Amino acid sequence: METHDRKHGKKETAMNNHIFLPATEEGAKLNLTYEQEHTCKVVYKPAEDGKGYVFSELWDIRPEIKYSDSYIIVPVRSVYVDKFTYSADDIFANIIHSSADHCPSNSWKQLLISHGIDCSQCATDGYFYDSKDHSGKTYFTDYQCGGEIKGGHIINSFSAAPVPSGSYVYMLPICHNHNSCCTDDTGRNGSGFFMMPRSEGQGIRLRGYMVL
Ligand SMILES: [Zn+2]
Repeated sequence: METHDRKHGKKETAMNNHIFLPATEEGAKLNLTYEQEHTCKVVYKPAEDGKGYVFSELWDIRPEIKYSDSYIIVPVRSVYVDKFTYSADDIFANIIHSSADHCPSNSWKQLLISHGIDCSQCATDGYFYDSKDHSGKTYFTDYQCGGEIKGGHIINSFSAAPVPSGSYVYMLPICHNHNSCCTDDTGRNGSGFFMMPRSEGQGIRLRGYMVL
């Protein structure tokens, strides 16, 4: 399912997008498995104002997935900020331009688990709230939780959107359907709705914007 902008400028560049940046203070403390060290990476693309890089997606390790030369891929230690706590009345939405099945390995989910975050069920309350009604009283009755739990990367927003400059990317355990269903006419994965948590909880926070 290749529906986002990796299609543009695709080139055969398997490894040369990978760069190594200093670890963040918290990232340096991460206790990673060998697999996580090599697979939990984050893809950034040039910001539209040309002044830095913005989060694009979690690195898709499948060899057939190629990234444009202008994209950079950095290890989780370089972008990890910390754990964060959300409350039961917080709202969140998916990040646009991130793939539905971004990470074939379970590394990101394992990273959540290793932080003590329960990944046995979807962190949402099960509803798909209509982005057009911020009161949270309107939801799509045709959609419900389903599929595998994964490390869903989300933003604090009523609508699915790209990551705004300067903001963070949050990761929570959410189900396949909440990660990838589309309830509007855009056809974009995870678009048209916002989510609310089942209860208060924790997730992890990554840098959404970088200047090299
Ligand atoms: Zn769900």
